[in-house]
Amino acid sequence: MYADPLTRTGQYRVKRIIDTPRTGPVTETPTDLNQLRRLLDPASRTPLPIRVQGAGSACNDCNTTESGTTICMTGLDRIIHVDSYNHTVTTQAGVLVGDLVRELAEHGLELPGSYDLAGRTVGGAIAAPCFGPAIGGGGSYFASNVITMKLLRPDGQVFSVEAGQNNLLGAFRMSFGTLGIIYEVKLSVRPIRTFTASHRRVSIDKFATIVDALASADVGIKFYLMPYRDRVYLDVRRYDTDPGSTYTTPWKLKDWGESTVLPHIFKSLNRVVPMQSVRYRLIDTISETTQNLVNSRYVKSGSNATSQSDRARGKSGRRCFYSTWCFPAADFSMVVRAYRDFCARAYEESQYRCDMPAVGYRLGRDPGSLLSPSFEEPMFALTSASTQERGWDDFVIDLAEFAEKYGGIPLISQSRALRAEHVIQSYNRRLDFFRRMRRKLDPDKRFLNPFLAQFMQ
Ligand SMILES: Cc1cc2nc3c(=O)[nH]c(=O)nc-3n(C[C@H](O)[C@H](O)[C@H](O)COP(=O)(O)OP(=O)(O)OC[C@H]3O[C@@H](n4cnc5c(N)ncnc54)[C@H](O)[C@@H]3O)c2cc1C
Repeated sequence: MYADPLTRTGQYRVKRIIDTPRTGPVTETPTDLNQLRRLLDPASRTPLPIRVQGAGSACNDCNTTESGTTICMTGLDRIIHVDSYNHTVTTQAGVLVGDLVRELAEHGLELPGSYDLAGRTVGGAIAAPCFGPAIGGGGSYFASNVITMKLLRPDGQVFSVEAGQNNLLGAFRMSFGTLGIIYEVKLSVRPIRTFTASHRRVSIDKFATIVDALASADVGIKFYLMPYRDRVYLDVRRYDTDPGSTYTTPWKLKDWGESTVLPHIFKSLNRVVPMQSVRYRLIDTISETTQNLVNSRYVKSGSNATSQSDRARGKSGRRCFYSTWCFPAADFSMVVRAYRDFCARAYEESQYRCDMPAVGYRLGRDPGSLLSPSFEEPMFALTSASTQERGWDDFVIDLAEFAEKYGGIPLISQSRALRAEHVIQSYNRRLDFFRRMRRKLDPDKRFLNPFLAQFMQ
């Protein structure tokens, strides 16, 4: 009966594949559209739910699944066409933002905004709020640059959103991979434009007195907040008629210091200096020295191309933990003082504190995405970050309570310990509309994991 062992082996293999249901968690990295389509085909045996992932730099479970299939998009990494005449670029979604920035620079072009983390993907930067120190009021988000988008719907069908379909574009930007998987986009870009970067060191109270004026100024704002030193280091960017020469080296040095050297030093100090008071004094002094030396002295001018950080390529490169909340700009003078008091109290009660400075950006009002955190008004995004794991989970719960109390808007991909009711309340009618649309596109909840289902089903 089994005369041909090869056939027998072959039959056995085929039978096993057909009979044994595949279970997750599985990670797939398609390298072309056909592979991606096959994975989404409802007739395929891809374990559900399906979560799409870019570089995996979000800080919560929005981009993974513990039981189904995580589709990693970094295999679709082709920049298709740079149109130097019409100032657009067409690219696959798995391209890293840093690679895109470098390619554009070779054509004398840049993205209109500045986005600090080069290691994230274009798809992840569109499907989630991704921002930086953009100069001027609007266009704070990477997603604002999208002109057209190609996606696969949850049922595996190809779907395009064309230029001018503004409502649809608005819904699909910042949709966290719950309406479809973005595989190709056309973005608007522009000729490289230089800016000056001026730096100032102020106390938190002083910052609180000037932050209202900064919120409405035609500048780009990034700041480093050191609550235990009562210091804010401001980086204010503005276009200038003559910003002077721009060099990449100071920005690279700054980036290397902030994202590589400091986290490593702080991690080591946390291991080798047992006395907290001594350790943190040292850590804060090193942070301040870096700000004073590198940022204030050397980083004077730049462009969105030169200021691009090379930080943390993907999850493996993650050197610190973070949680980001947005606060209305109109209240930020009060929030920033309250944050200083919150940090002091949290340290006193739990002996936990962040070793990295908190980082903030001003976000202009931007209703270009339905789930834009600054849909209604300008905001300040504030990121608390630390290299210390022990105590972090409790800290982010306290931070979430603090943020809720002060009108904080959670970021679905960047806030830790968020409460479903608070997300629903914060995004309110816009989220209602989004959910109705989602249910229509994905009635079988193929793209929902338990984390997102809390507020998106
Ligand atoms: C050290 C560090 C610093 C950071 N600094 C900043 C900062 O300064 N500013 C800022 O805005 N953010 C920052 N972030 C957060 C993070 O980089 C952004 O949220 C980014 O947009 C995520 O991109 P990603 O490619 O890693 O996407 P992922 O984290 O993998 O995914 C983010 C979301 O997008 C969805 N998604 C990904 N790809 C696709 C696709 N092709 N189609 C549809 N949906 C998709 C995922 O399902 C998920 O919901 C930082 C993160 C780290 C680790």
